[in-house]
Amino acid sequence: MGLKIYINGQLLPQEDAKISVFDHGLLYGDGVFEGIRAYHGKVFAMDQHMDRLYDSATALALKIPITKAEMANAIKETMAANNLTESYIRVVVTRGVGKLGLDPNKCATPQIIIITDTIELYSKALYERGLDIVTVSTIRNHFSALDPKIKSLNYLNNILAKIESLQAGAGEALMLNKDGYVAECAGDNIFIIRDHVLFTPPESAGILVGITRNVVMKLALEMGIEVKEQLMTKYDLYIAEECFLTGTAAEIIPVVKIDGRILGTGKPGKITLELLKKYRDLTKVGF
Ligand code: PMP
Repeated sequence: MGLKIYINGQLLPQEDAKISVFDHGLLYGDGVFEGIRAYHGKVFAMDQHMDRLYDSATALALKIPITKAEMANAIKETMAANNLTESYIRVVVTRGVGKLGLDPNKCATPQIIIITDTIELYSKALYERGLDIVTVSTIRNHFSALDPKIKSLNYLNNILAKIESLQAGAGEALMLNKDGYVAECAGDNIFIIRDHVLFTPPESAGILVGITRNVVMKLALEMGIEVKEQLMTKYDLYIAEECFLTGTAAEIIPVVKIDGRILGTGKPGKITLELLKKYRDLTKVGF
C-alpha cells in the first residue's frame, strides 16, 4: 500500500500526489523545506523545526498560508493517516504555481507538501565502525549570496559537494567556507573533541543551524563537557581526538577518517558514543 501525502490540506494517495510543472519550487528551487523525525509517535523538536521553517520562508519573503500550529497539526494528521510512529517527515513549501520568469509575485499561493516516510542515511554498521569523510573543492555558499541558514529548495551547493564525496568513495563531504574555515558537511553539521572540549563551527562560518547540533551542545554541557563554537581549519580536524556529524536523519554519526587520515584510535570516540546514547535516550522521551 502506498503512502498518503499531504498537499494543501488534502491527503492524497502517493500516485495522485502531484504538483504543477509551473511551480516555482520546481522551476527555480524557490521554496523551503524541513526534515523532521518522529520517534514513538511523537515529533522530535517540533517547535524548533517550525521556527526554522518559518524563518527560512520569511528570509525568502515567502508567506506560508497556515500558522505554525496548523502546520504541526497537518504533520501529525499525515503521520496518523499513514499509521506511522517512527518516521522521517519532509515538509516542503514552494512558492507555488506561477509564470515562466522569476517574478515570485506572479505565483498564486505557496504549496504545502508533507511526506511521512522512513529514512536510513547510514547503515547500523557505520555507527559502529565510523564514517570516513573528505574535504571537497566545492566551497559552502557565502552567506551574502545565499545564506546557508535558509533551508531552501536550492540545495545544489550541497549536491555538488555530495557528488565529489561519492566520487572519492567517502561517506560525507566536508565543505569549507570561502575563507578556508570548516563550515559543515553536505547534509550534516560537524563537531570535534580535543582535551575534553567539544568544538563546532560558529553560525558565522556559514552553516545551517542544525537542530541536532543545538541538542548535542546542550547534552554535552549537561555531561560537564565544555562547548566552544569556534572557527576551525582542516588542521584542527586532523589533530582531533574524536569527530562526529549531526543531523536529524543521521542523529550522531562517528567519523574516524578525514581526507585519508585516521583520527585518534581509528574507532568511534568514547564521548561521541556517550553523546549518541544520550541523544537516543532523549528521542525516547521527546524534546
Ligand atoms: N547542514 C545541512 C546542510 C543540512 O542539510 C542539515 C540537515 N540535513 C544539517 C546541517 C543538520 O540539521 P538538523 O540537525 O536540523 O537536521
